[in-house]
Amino acid sequence: MSLAPDPVLPRTMSDPMLPHPAVIEDIQPEAYGISTFSLVFTDPSQASTYRFQPGQFNMIYLPGFGEVAISISSSPSAPQVVGHTIRYAGSVTRALGRLKVGELVGVRGPYGSAWPLQKAESKNLVIVSGGIGLAPLRPALLSILRHRENYGRVVLLYGARTPADLLYTNEFASWQAGGIEVHSTVDLADENWRGQVGVVPALFYRIRVDPKQTLVMTCGPEIMMRFVIYEALARRVPKESIFLSMERNMKCAVGFCGHCQFGPTFICKDGPVLNFAAIEPFFGKEDF
Ligand SMILES: Cc1cc2nc3c(=O)[nH]c(=O)nc-3n(C[C@H](O)[C@H](O)[C@H](O)COP(=O)(O)OP(=O)(O)OC[C@H]3O[C@@H](n4cnc5c(N)ncnc54)[C@H](O)[C@@H]3O)c2cc1C
Repeated sequence: MSLAPDPVLPRTMSDPMLPHPAVIEDIQPEAYGISTFSLVFTDPSQASTYRFQPGQFNMIYLPGFGEVAISISSSPSAPQVVGHTIRYAGSVTRALGRLKVGELVGVRGPYGSAWPLQKAESKNLVIVSGGIGLAPLRPALLSILRHRENYGRVVLLYGARTPADLLYTNEFASWQAGGIEVHSTVDLADENWRGQVGVVPALFYRIRVDPKQTLVMTCGPEIMMRFVIYEALARRVPKESIFLSMERNMKCAVGFCGHCQFGPTFICKDGPVLNFAAIEPFFGKEDF
């Protein structure tokens, strides 16, 4: 098996550094301090030619504040409206959080590598995510649901700090009805919570994994991904079958500035989706 994630389509923007105006069509609050922004390019030709693959990200620009990398969280089969689930973490994202429907932002992208959905065909998939890490995996889940017959057993293991921090919970029933097993957990339950309590990697103990037939895809805090990889390896899933999405501070997004260097790779162009076998020597090392 090749170590690279799935090949991605060529970028649909002529100048990769030029943001294109997009209007905020909708803002959906998802959890405390997290909302999904649905964006539509104002230029009709840009809107009609824009395409992305699950796992890719855009750079969102707010004049006077700056630019941030944000994963695309909507369905690749409806690329005219591009969803971004944003956590208000610092100066740019908090300023984005003050915007209203109808206001404009700049968007350039899509950038980066994609989840290995072609490699995953006819295999079982274990998708493991923590907190806002579900955002870049949602397009993969929606794509799998559209082509469900192409895959074997598909399991989502998902957790957050509290029940209120879980994203997209109103979609879980339709994901389950579509053939995705959903197991969720929280660190801290409330009186209404009937699910698991504990860390995300512990959800591995609730499923059986056929290591030769399974691909693992994970996104979340690095400490969580480290233990997810540990649990997958403990079940003899080959390193080559484990894919993770990495985050690093990013500026240019096109492999030029070097801000997101990680070992010999640049997260913006070689990632964010990377194969564990390819990055094992650097993963979990503070200096990288
Ligand atoms: C490929 C990629 C995809 C991303 N997808 C999303 C997404 O879907 N939704 C979302 O909300 N955020 C996402 N991020 C993270 C987002 O780009 C950062 O949180 C961004 O820097 C916030 O900018 P800010 O100016 O609001 O905060 P800043 O003022 O830059 O930072 C706020 C705090 O977050 C820390 N920080 C900044 N960037 C990162 C980072 N990349 N990783 C960890 N900590 C960081 C800073 O050190 C600081 O403590 C993604 C990042 C990458 C690289």
